[in-house]
Amino acid sequence: MKFDPHIHSVYSGDSRSEVIDILIQAEKKGLDAIAISDHNEIKGSRLARSYGGNIIVVPSIEISSDKGHILGLGVDEIIPKGLSAVETVDRIHDAGGLAIVPHPFSYYRHGLFCNVDKNLVVDGVETKNARYIFGYSNKQAETLAYNKRLATLGASDSHFLKSVGDAFTEVNTKGDDSVDGILKAIKHRRCKAMGHRTSNFLIAKEVFVKKVLRRYPKREE
Ligand SMILES: [Zn+2]
Ligand SMILES: [Zn+2]
Repeated sequence: MKFDPHIHSVYSGDSRSEVIDILIQAEKKGLDAIAISDHNEIKGSRLARSYGGNIIVVPSIEISSDKGHILGLGVDEIIPKGLSAVETVDRIHDAGGLAIVPHPFSYYRHGLFCNVDKNLVVDGVETKNARYIFGYSNKQAETLAYNKRLATLGASDSHFLKSVGDAFTEVNTKGDDSVDGILKAIKHRRCKAMGHRTSNFLIAKEVFVKKVLRRYPKREE
C-alpha cells in the first residue's frame, strides 16, 4: 500500500493545507494511508482521523529535538520540543511509536544526523524526502539505512496540496491494512521509499506566496 507519512497541515504554522483538503488530495493521488506530521502539534493529525474516510490516518508528530527533527510515527500525544535527541526517541518509544528521522542529512532543515551521533537508536530514516533539492543528502541517508539496517521511508514533507504523495512509502502490510499493520510492517522494514521530488518551480512559488502573504497579514486568502 501507498503511505505518505509526512504531510504538514495548517496546524503546523508553515503550511496552508486544510486537513480535509489533504485527505481529498491523498485520495486523488491514489494513496492508501497518510500521516499528518505537524511541527510539535497533533491537532491536525487528530482532526484527520476524526473524518473516518477511505484513507487510513496514522497518528504522528514532527518533534523539534534540541539537535534536529524527529518523527514520532504512531504517537498520539504531544512530546515537548527542545529535549535531547535520545530523550525524544525514548519518549516516542514509550508512547508506542516509531522514531523516524526525516531529511536526516539536510543541514538547513534541522537534519538530525548533521548534529548527532549516528548510533542513536531509531527505527527508520527518510531516504526520499520530496522537498530536498540536493539528491546528495538522500543518498547519504540510503547508505546509513543500509549500514544500520533501518527502515527506509519516502515522504512528501508536503507544505502545499499539490505536493501530497510526490514521494511516499510502499508498505507491505501482509494484508493487515490498518494503523497497527502499517506500524508493524515499518518496524520490520517491510517498506521502501518511492516517488519523485516536488518540482522546484512549485516550491519556489510556495516560498513567494508565503512572503507576499506575510506583507498583508490581515488579508484572508
Ligand atoms: Zn522537518
Ligand atoms: Zn516536515
